[in-house]
Amino acid sequence: MFTNLRELILSMPSDETCRKYLAKQRWPDDIVICPYCECNKCYVVNKGKRFKCSGCRLLFSVLVGTVFQDSKIPLSTWFLAIYLIGSHKKGISSYQVAKDCGVSQKTGWFMLHRVRELMRDKMPAQLDNIVEVDESWVGGRVTNMSKSKRKKLREEKKTYSTKTMVMGLLERGGNLKLIALGKNNDASILQPVVKTHVDKDAVIITDGLNSYDGLSRQFAGHETVNHMEQEYVRDGVIHTNSIEGAFSQLKRSIYGIYHKASPAHLTRYCDETMYRYNTRNMKDPERFVLSLH
Ligand SMILES: [Zn+2]
Repeated sequence: MFTNLRELILSMPSDETCRKYLAKQRWPDDIVICPYCECNKCYVVNKGKRFKCSGCRLLFSVLVGTVFQDSKIPLSTWFLAIYLIGSHKKGISSYQVAKDCGVSQKTGWFMLHRVRELMRDKMPAQLDNIVEVDESWVGGRVTNMSKSKRKKLREEKKTYSTKTMVMGLLERGGNLKLIALGKNNDASILQPVVKTHVDKDAVIITDGLNSYDGLSRQFAGHETVNHMEQEYVRDGVIHTNSIEGAFSQLKRSIYGIYHKASPAHLTRYCDETMYRYNTRNMKDPERFVLSLH
């Protein structure tokens, strides 16, 4: 097992060694599972480059069913990118990925986005205990727009319509979920998200937004802090400061490094912020391994 980037590169210098490593990660007890029919009786052909399923008779490589399938980028380059992207705590630009991996800027951009997909919700378990829930509006600030664009928005009376709402749910001392939702913060949108991602035994903490009214009947408890009346912390534990910290991380990555977040891409930035938060206690090699699963 490698403990840093140098060792990763030295231990897997060729595409063959990378493929072997990936196979070990996918099938740790060496029982190859067919990605097409899930049959566990597959045998090696083509000098280990491919497998053949004795059930459906199809040929496949270790890449089938992974994000690396159909990619012309060598697996060793992918591994390097995954490690780099995972170990930059505050995010890395696609320009930097391209430079460090020796690929074109377009390829760097593509890899960065693919790796974000890999990071998507690696820990799908429901949140429990004390869960802070809040929303934040993210996206193109009006002041950053051209005069003509602002004028057009004013005319259409859509000054704030460039922002997208992100809903955040954070278990104290546990995991974070960030979900890009659009523009509607009604109860009909927010409450189903809470019900999907939070265990019924949890106590929910929100601000005073009335879209959360009624949650106390569906969970062990529902406490609110009234930000309108300048109340931010009550009894030392009733606050939404942790989820607000997570929102700042999300915003910092978008404004600071990635410069912009179109609504379509916002989900990926959410995925990345979540992943970084939820793997905060892991070492870089552990995070790398998790990305491959
Ligand atoms: Zn099969």
